[in-house]
Amino acid sequence: MSDAPQHREFVCELDDILDGAGVCALVDDEQIAIFRVGESLFALENLDPFSGANVLARGIVGDVKGEAVVASPVYKQHFNLASGRCVEDEAVVLRTWNCGVLDGRVWVESRRVPSRLAAATPGRRRLVVVGNGMAAMRTVEELLAIAPDMYEITVFGAEPRGNYNRILLSPLLSGEKAWSDIETHPPQWYEANGITLHAGDSVLQIDRRQRRVISANGVVVPYDRLLLATGSDPLALSVPGGELEGITSFRSLDDVDEMLSAARASTRAVVIGGGLLGLEAANGLRMQGMAVTVVHLQDRLMERQLDAPAAKLLQATLEQRGLSFCLDACTTAFEGTTHVEAVVLAGGRRIAADLVVIAAGIRPRIALARDCGLRCDRGILVDDTLQTYDPAIYAVGECVQHRGSTYGLVAPLWEQARVCAAHLAEHGGTRFRGSMPATQLKVTGVELFSAGAIDAGPATESLRYADPARGIYKRLLVEGNRLRGVVLYGDTRHAAWYAELIDSRRDISDLRQRMLLGGPAPAPLQRQA
Ligand SMILES: Cc1cc2nc3c(=O)[nH]c(=O)nc-3n(C[C@H](O)[C@H](O)[C@H](O)COP(=O)(O)OP(=O)(O)OC[C@H]3O[C@@H](n4cnc5c(N)ncnc54)[C@H](O)[C@@H]3O)c2cc1C
Repeated sequence: MSDAPQHREFVCELDDILDGAGVCALVDDEQIAIFRVGESLFALENLDPFSGANVLARGIVGDVKGEAVVASPVYKQHFNLASGRCVEDEAVVLRTWNCGVLDGRVWVESRRVPSRLAAATPGRRRLVVVGNGMAAMRTVEELLAIAPDMYEITVFGAEPRGNYNRILLSPLLSGEKAWSDIETHPPQWYEANGITLHAGDSVLQIDRRQRRVISANGVVVPYDRLLLATGSDPLALSVPGGELEGITSFRSLDDVDEMLSAARASTRAVVIGGGLLGLEAANGLRMQGMAVTVVHLQDRLMERQLDAPAAKLLQATLEQRGLSFCLDACTTAFEGTTHVEAVVLAGGRRIAADLVVIAAGIRPRIALARDCGLRCDRGILVDDTLQTYDPAIYAVGECVQHRGSTYGLVAPLWEQARVCAAHLAEHGGTRFRGSMPATQLKVTGVELFSAGAIDAGPATESLRYADPARGIYKRLLVEGNRLRGVVLYGDTRHAAWYAELIDSRRDISDLRQRMLLGGPAPAPLQRQA
């Protein structure tokens, strides 16, 4: 096979071709004949060379001495479907095309190479990036900084735009930020950096043997190194009515657009999920004028990050701002004719809704990796260098699983990006060792921080400070004189200091007295002369 990138033309649905029959298609301005035998496809010139007529697609498909052949409808010569060789005259051979089926559609490999996919510049290797999100582009930026000329880079992104800061979708929804504040890599950025961007074009298949990817639009690009950064899918609820209009998730710009148009046209929203994402969605919709109820399966908000007292304070603050909560509540169905009208809870309670946002968790998006045979568990398995089980393929971001952990926050992904870029650049050495989760809620006026472990074991000491009148609560979890976790509500000024103590595993014996006050040690008193 030539190293030049190929292009696939999708010509029809597989079901458009009857088994044992052929169709004529125009590829590269040439008429070709495509035949179907069971699930196998063959593509040949449509020309019967003996009569000079473009009629082969109408020939009868059959078997001659074990060879799958097509008989010309004019003089009845037979042509081998796979090789194009004429059974009666070996000197005559028809041209053939690579072809196949992807996603139920028939493709034929075109011979015309699109100019934007011209062969790699000599001396540069080809890096193909699948996913155009936060982890992917951070890795590309890190790579450009340390090895700007090493790769010719092609990026595929399922979303029809450049890259943006997904974290800032929350303030975009609440109206505190605009698109121009959150767009990080507009299409011109790719052009200016010599990167080919295929926006709005998902990669559907990775051919690891031939080292190339195939996209939904039929683009085929070979790689020397492949970087997978496909992120996560929001979890759906498998309950009756889940297909109704007006039910969305909170993951992409399109989701925010859908929520904003619902907020313009209607008034009642239900958010399912009282975690970080659900509360940010609820707050945003409230700021857009909707009456919002949060339905949460657990008995307290953000139970993975907050203990019960902090969760109570948070709930009280959000209730004062107008949000309603249904805790310990399980959604059993959505009601409506075509559009959602209500959420039904176990026990029969019905909450009227014009919009439902499901923020019930995420799942690493691994189907593409799994389908090409890469080892996956919950995520794509990677080692400390972010390499998958295939040495030519790396993976970063929410789609990966490293030492048993998957991540849903960006801080660890930045670290992954730095390490992965160093290895793509063959600078070696660095390793990703895993990262401690730290959370802040992006609701203006709510000060909340949580990092490390929040569950106490038998050997855990809990240091607490509570000032209910000022709405301040702090809890530090200490084990063996080392800080293991922290929950702060109402006063997060020293969050970075606590995070650093957890990360460094430093002995805190000398700090214990003022641990709950936070901050570096005060300067010693100067003796008066
Ligand atoms: C509303 C919201 C608020 C958040 N707030 C915070 C926060 O405050 N703090 C924090 O740390 N984290 C936050 N996060 C999480 C953070 O945004 C993610 O951890 C981060 O975006 C993950 O980066 P990623 O590159 O792995 O995935 P993504 O950014 O999701 O990028 C993956 C991209 O790959 C594309 N893709 C997938 N499959 C294919 C394919 N086959 N072909 C081509 N493209 C494909 C997807 O369309 C997507 O654009 C928030 C997330 C959301 C949604």
